[in-house]
Amino acid sequence: MGKKIVAGNWKMNLLKEDAQTLASEVVNIAKDELSSDVTLIMCPPFVHLSEVKKLTSAVSNVFIGAQNCSTEASGAYTGEISVGMLKSYGIDYVILGHSERREYFKESNEELAKKTDIVLENGLLPIFCCGEVLAEREGGKQEEVVGSQLKESLFHLDAEAFSKVVIAYEPVWAIGTGVTASTAQAQEMHAFIRGLIAEKYGQEVADGISILYGGSCKPGNAPELFACKDVDGGLIGGASLKSRDFIDIAKSY
Ligand code: PEP
Repeated sequence: MGKKIVAGNWKMNLLKEDAQTLASEVVNIAKDELSSDVTLIMCPPFVHLSEVKKLTSAVSNVFIGAQNCSTEASGAYTGEISVGMLKSYGIDYVILGHSERREYFKESNEELAKKTDIVLENGLLPIFCCGEVLAEREGGKQEEVVGSQLKESLFHLDAEAFSKVVIAYEPVWAIGTGVTASTAQAQEMHAFIRGLIAEKYGQEVADGISILYGGSCKPGNAPELFACKDVDGGLIGGASLKSRDFIDIAKSY
């Protein structure tokens, strides 16, 4: 069982004032209600990171993540954001390989291996997303697809580096669709992922990795998903934009 983590992916949502309001609300409710053994992560768009970080610094189990980073350390890459910059703002986590980035920005497993390396080299922690699209699920290819994503982007790491990675299993057909994976489907894939890690790095490393579920997770379905043996929390999209829902999900253990 990995550390319990609930991360909110705000995607490209919220203007300045609304971002600050949401972050303040989350922090205030978390202070009163969140168990100290749950790690809460908010992942706003880049432009809001600095302000949100300032608002959350008073709570020890609330952390901030970015939604992406460059493969490069610095230089002539207009529009890109380096991990070093994120580090200089005290950012703790970086989401890598979200399905939207794989689909719209054609991020490959190879590119994500580079991003994983540069995140870890800078001392930040990757939240690595994997998951199959609907046609792959319907063709029974989910294990093959997720296995390749993990092997090609992460399995070059040594055990010490790998232990720092958080994995988010997000069946693409469940993201933003209102269709959640059943508990059986989620548990089956999480157990498969943990098994693959155990084969490569040993059971002790596998047991310590947090494997989050993502895909239309809401306060109503989080308790049953989080009760699955190999589900260590969630990566939350839409519901992370409402402070009450986000915290209620995080309280679902
Ligand atoms: C996500 O984008 O990572 C996600 C899980 O979105 P949603 O919760 O809205 O399905």
